[in-house]
Amino acid sequence: MSENKGILLYAEVTRDKYIHTVFFELANKALELSKKLDNCKISALLITEPGQLENYRDGFVNSGIDRVYIYEDEKFKNYNTEIYSKIAIDLVNEIKPEIMLIGATNQGRDLAPRISSALHTGLTADCTDLDINEKLQLAATRPTFGGQLMATILCKKMPQMATVRPKVFKPMDENAVRNTEFINKTTNHTQIDTGIEIIDFVRTLENDLNELDSAEIIVSGGRGIGTAEGFKMLKDLADLLGGTVGASRVAVDMGIADKSIQIGQTGKTVRPKIYIACGISGAIQHIVGMQDSDKIIAINSDENAPIFNVADLGIVGDLNQIIPELISRLKN
Ligand SMILES: Cc1cc2nc3c(=O)[nH]c(=O)nc-3n(C[C@H](O)[C@H](O)[C@H](O)COP(=O)(O)OP(=O)(O)OC[C@H]3O[C@@H](n4cnc5c(N)ncnc54)[C@H](O)[C@@H]3O)c2cc1C
Repeated sequence: MSENKGILLYAEVTRDKYIHTVFFELANKALELSKKLDNCKISALLITEPGQLENYRDGFVNSGIDRVYIYEDEKFKNYNTEIYSKIAIDLVNEIKPEIMLIGATNQGRDLAPRISSALHTGLTADCTDLDINEKLQLAATRPTFGGQLMATILCKKMPQMATVRPKVFKPMDENAVRNTEFINKTTNHTQIDTGIEIIDFVRTLENDLNELDSAEIIVSGGRGIGTAEGFKMLKDLADLLGGTVGASRVAVDMGIADKSIQIGQTGKTVRPKIYIACGISGAIQHIVGMQDSDKIIAINSDENAPIFNVADLGIVGDLNQIIPELISRLKN
């Protein structure tokens, strides 16, 4: 029997100094998994600049985390692949979790493969579901063959690692208060000269990824929008509704929308309260990125478009007439 025990979650700190929401989604799922693993302990790895822990403390306590391993240093103001992965590897070797979960954010996608390859274990990336099978293994499900099939993947080595995109799992809906233990750790990896110097971070307003992550209303456009000007019309509608704009891959490939707002299998997964799909046909690769939205509204001129199969409300017609009409009514 394996000596590995427990679930370790990576608690990503964002540039705005909060714990990324994907961490709480993973914590919710970890609570479910832990129940099937004899209520094993759930730990978190936190790498942060000094003096920030108090801002994060309640988040850990209220989301079922039993232990937080904290590494603090001035150098942790900015993410660094080499240092962060070395710290994670040390911690895994020390506490030997049987499962390690990381959010599939830009940072997580960079970090997770480094850790798994150094530990000679497997990593299932971009999972859409996680469960524990009858042999008490992590059963990690993700799309394969261009989204046509779902594969459930088992990992033979420890820890069993997986990444999950933001919004794939539900956030913590009730408090799972724990008597969380906070453990300060030290590392000499901060001494490594990685040869990297971060000069500045430039945030692009239009393409702010966090907007899609937190938006309650997303107005999304596809090929049917036709032009970059058409996307400005979507932005007007989104602004009036207090939402933000998303796009299909074809709209991105056409150069009328930025890649950072692409929704779907090779873009972002979103879970807003309302998703308005405008001129999007509803290909499976798009659907997997938005199907968990609370309410889906589709505007499409083709009454047989597959998007209507997932829509709660469908409007058949020309979006160039319908959207300006909506905008004008909202303005009034
Ligand atoms: C490996 C792989 C990964 C992929 N990843 C993604 C992904 O992450 N996200 C994604 O979106 N796609 C992805 N795709 C592409 C996907 O298969 C589809 O090609 C794409 O989603 C189609 O985009 P669309 O709906 O904008 O365009 P189309 O399929 O061309 O649909 C356009 C729709 O607009 C409607 N329309 C046209 N004019 C109007 C009008 N005036 N008024 C109203 N409706 C109108 C049409 O009736 C049509 O239904 C992926 C494909 C592959 C193979």
